[in-house]
Amino acid sequence: MSKQTITVIKGDGIGPSIVEAAIEVLAKAGCDFDYEYVDAGLTALEKTGELLPQATLDAIARNKITLKGPLTTPVGDGFTSINVTLRKQFSLYANVRPVISFKGTKARYENIDIITIRENTEGMYSGHRQQVSEDGLIAEASSIITREGAERIAVFAFETARRENRKKVTIVHKANILKSTSGLFLKTAREVATRYPDIETQEMIVDNTCMQLVMNPQQFDVIVTTNLFGDILSDLCAGLVGGLGMAPGANIGKDCAIFEAVHGSAPDIAGKNLANPSSVILASIQMLEYLKMQDKAEKIRAALADVIASGDRTTRDLGGSFGTTDFTQAMLERL
Ligand code: NAD
Repeated sequence: MSKQTITVIKGDGIGPSIVEAAIEVLAKAGCDFDYEYVDAGLTALEKTGELLPQATLDAIARNKITLKGPLTTPVGDGFTSINVTLRKQFSLYANVRPVISFKGTKARYENIDIITIRENTEGMYSGHRQQVSEDGLIAEASSIITREGAERIAVFAFETARRENRKKVTIVHKANILKSTSGLFLKTAREVATRYPDIETQEMIVDNTCMQLVMNPQQFDVIVTTNLFGDILSDLCAGLVGGLGMAPGANIGKDCAIFEAVHGSAPDIAGKNLANPSSVILASIQMLEYLKMQDKAEKIRAALADVIASGDRTTRDLGGSFGTTDFTQAMLERL
């Protein structure tokens, strides 16, 4: 079998340091990949004058699997979000954001294991009719939900639940108020649910979901929802297990997948050897699972769990006083 090549975008700010940490960890765990390094974001803008050069898009398409550090989108007119562009360009319709409790994190809860599956291409992020009236007094944006989009994300969620032996899928919506868009999403997801009698289905309105997540998060297993609700709920879930430093995300389409940390480029701590590399290491674990390299995924997860539980050379956000490189060294020693 030919060696898998992974496209790597180190990203901006803390990106290079945490992505390099993840690649060292992958190598030490015995993952024999080739890597093709390309640029995007501010780094690419400085080198090529473009935020998302064609060579980067070509590499993502060619290798199919990408590991990506956070990117800085410059503030100001004319710069559209690179992440949104990538999701649209490669039809990465499923955003999969798992959160798991690790002993030793400064989290409010234990025993949490929730996957939020967010529709990644439609809804309020369609970018449709975003306009402000000439007098600046009225702003407008429209949300588009299609039956096709709702069906494929619902199927993705139930298939994920079945594959991972999970018990329940919660369909999160606001169909009582957003009758057309959220209504179509709920109706379609309900129809899909009937094809999976082995999995319990629950329906929950998004505002109640927020309260339930804070009061009793252990009741959740897999959540499937539209773009904006998924964005907000997955950050809420990250907060339940100790914050953004522990939250990975996969963007998955029919042909390509991009694995990344949920957090941004953290310019406030960039270049200071302070960043926690856990999110991007967890994203690499998602990548290994996607590649059906379960044994390597488990090995890295166990090493990460042990470093955090023992507090051996952990970073500041985890309650420690060590740097990215020390944390990585503690991981490497366990592998
Ligand atoms: P951020 O996620 O970069 O940082 C928020 C806070 O969390 C900061 O205090 C930061 O120091 C801390 N933090 C983040 N990651 C950390 C880590 N690994 N270890 C320790 N602390 C960590 O959010 P922001 O400051 O709002 O955004 C900064 C830039 O990142 C912006 O340009 C934004 O557009 C971009 N961004 C990119 C992505 C992405 O590429 N996926 C996601 C979100 C934001």
